[in-house]
Amino acid sequence: MARLLMLFAGLSAILWSGAVGWMLAVGTDNQVMFVVCITLAAISMTIANVAYWPVYVIFAIPVSLSAAFGLAISGRPGHAVLAGAGLALAVSMSAISRRLGNQITRAFSLATANQALVDSLGERGRELEQACDALERVSRTDPLTGLANRRSRDMRLADEWTRAMRSGGSLAVVAIDVDRFKRFNDTHGHDEGDRALQAVAAMLEQGIRVPIDLAARQGGEEFMLILPGVDLAGAASIAERVRVMVAKCSADPAYALPEKITISLGVAAMEPALGRSMHELTIAADAALYQAKLGGRNRYELGTIRPVASAA
Ligand code: GH3
Ligand code: MG
Ligand code: MG
Repeated sequence: MARLLMLFAGLSAILWSGAVGWMLAVGTDNQVMFVVCITLAAISMTIANVAYWPVYVIFAIPVSLSAAFGLAISGRPGHAVLAGAGLALAVSMSAISRRLGNQITRAFSLATANQALVDSLGERGRELEQACDALERVSRTDPLTGLANRRSRDMRLADEWTRAMRSGGSLAVVAIDVDRFKRFNDTHGHDEGDRALQAVAAMLEQGIRVPIDLAARQGGEEFMLILPGVDLAGAASIAERVRVMVAKCSADPAYALPEKITISLGVAAMEPALGRSMHELTIAADAALYQAKLGGRNRYELGTIRPVASAA
């Protein structure tokens, strides 16, 4: 493409410089005036080519030199001065256009480099955002079961508590503990124990309304369900549902556990209000879980919450 442009500019230069030199050498004053105006206009119009300096020079310099030569041999009054002016124009155009061309090229490459930098910064920013998201997910997830971890449970409970305080309604939690899990581990090994915990987690997740409800692993073989907008009776029925699901899952070939596992559950619900605290809720659920253990395990118990008036 650049070669084609150079060829085109060179051919134009031959035609123009021949015609201009000849007219300036032999033309009348009026013709000379006309040709000088047209030539200056043509050279000015080709200034756009200065971005690619050689194309501009290949056209403008021969035309200016030929004009100077034509004037020099014309013998009209002041021909030497006019020829000198034409020569000076050719030299100064060559110098100025070269500098201008270089500056335009530098500005263009700077703009290109700048854009590349902006693009790469944007890309880096997106990668960083994704890494932060992944890190945030990891920091909220229990690696063994994929459920929310304790930290995530705390955050969600606080959020749901605040939401229920603002807009009213009930908030329920279910504290869950795998029964006689130490014995299970001792009998079947820690790896089988891990698989059992994963099966329990899967049952909990299937038994709730994700993502409205949350199932979290609090640590060890202890889990908790957070059930926004659910009252005590609703939470009790969810607790019973997941209890049955866990008790049956050992027979499911998808889990194929070496022994039946069961869970005990403590259910508590309250309407968050001033003078109440979410710790009352979790304490009531833990107390109910303790009662379920005492009551023979593989069952749920309901927690009791003091009325607000007596709590004050
Ligand atoms: P209870 O019915 O009274 O809850 O009895 P338990 O045996 O379940 O309770 P205990 O607190 O005595 O034992 C809990 C066991 O859970 C002990 C520990 O080995 C096991 N455990 C805790 N975390 C993990 C885990 O990540 N993987 C496995 N495989 N076992 C775990
Ligand atoms: Mg325990
Ligand atoms: Mg246990």
